[in-house]
Amino acid sequence: MRRVVRGTTLLGLGLIAMAPFGCDAQQRAQQQRSREPQLPPPSITEYKPQSTLVVPQHEVPRARFPVVDIHGHPPTLDNRETIEEVVREMDRLNIGVMVQARPSSGERLRSQIEAVREAGYEDRFVFFASLDLDNIEEGSGARIAAQLEEDVAAGAVGIGEISKAFGLANRRSDGTLLAMDDPELDIVWETAGRLGIPVFVHTADPPEFFEPLDYTNERWLELAIFPNRRFMDAERFPSFDELMEARNRMIMKHPETTWILAHMGWHTADLARLGEIFDAHPNVLGEVGAVLYDLGRQPRFAAEFFEKYQDRILFGKDSFAPDEYPYYWRVFETADEYFDYYRDYHAFWKLYGMDLSDDVLRSLYYQNARRIIPGLESAALPSN
Ligand SMILES: [Zn+2]
Repeated sequence: MRRVVRGTTLLGLGLIAMAPFGCDAQQRAQQQRSREPQLPPPSITEYKPQSTLVVPQHEVPRARFPVVDIHGHPPTLDNRETIEEVVREMDRLNIGVMVQARPSSGERLRSQIEAVREAGYEDRFVFFASLDLDNIEEGSGARIAAQLEEDVAAGAVGIGEISKAFGLANRRSDGTLLAMDDPELDIVWETAGRLGIPVFVHTADPPEFFEPLDYTNERWLELAIFPNRRFMDAERFPSFDELMEARNRMIMKHPETTWILAHMGWHTADLARLGEIFDAHPNVLGEVGAVLYDLGRQPRFAAEFFEKYQDRILFGKDSFAPDEYPYYWRVFETADEYFDYYRDYHAFWKLYGMDLSDDVLRSLYYQNARRIIPGLESAALPSN
């Protein structure tokens, strides 16, 4: 009986669905025309629809647990005034420790470490050392590794942030593009492994920046605003996949070194691809800076991913804009729906909360960072 009823219903639906195909082309064209706006359409920058949705809202001004921001770009921390200003914002947001990931090496590194110590905040900041990756030639690797040893002796606890220029713009002294897996640099990555410090590397940029700039590109607006983010010219730049492959070969050659992929390796629009990298390389972690727009549009899949790879994820923010951090706390900690993101040229869509468990939040916020960064025994972080 039931089956007969269902069969009848399906048949009925089939007839309804088929009806429009009976229309002739003229009718269809007319229908199409009647759906064209009768008013001049707004431009992409003018259209700002206000959501009428009324749902529970939970603003999160402070993170639930103390945070290590491993992708910190505060100003140069070489004077008390700047240091105290940054600490005030960290206290407000519940950031226990910030990693200074701005280029710092030699004197520039030492002066900051000293100023932070003098100001009495040595348990609130740690420093990564930058590398000089220009004009690489025979002997450069040994020179860079020696500088690294010196910087680590001065107090640096990691390498980074290595900028996207590595792979896209840094050159050998003969003018050719420096490959990320160039053997000249092997000694640098080996030294990092031996010293037990992580290498924090930003490779390429969002994949959309390497795609044709047409009206189907999800980052059209950003690419229209910033010409220097356009990498689609194959004559001038490697492709996104070529860069990812070179990065993966570099990682594969150095299994004793800990690698942190900035911006989750730019794989947040395809987390399964990042999962494959994590599966193949237990020495690789990912950092969430500047990819919140992707995580917040797939809250269930992203939360599953964070649960599965909870020992491989690190919090990082990238640009030091204190008012933007609470968007991260809200996506990670709440189950809120359809709320605004802070930058319209990153994403024209809304965000949803991932509602992560306390266990995953602790891993993301400070436990993983403490495990892989030496000297992170800060009183500003929980003891467990
Ligand atoms: Zn950065």
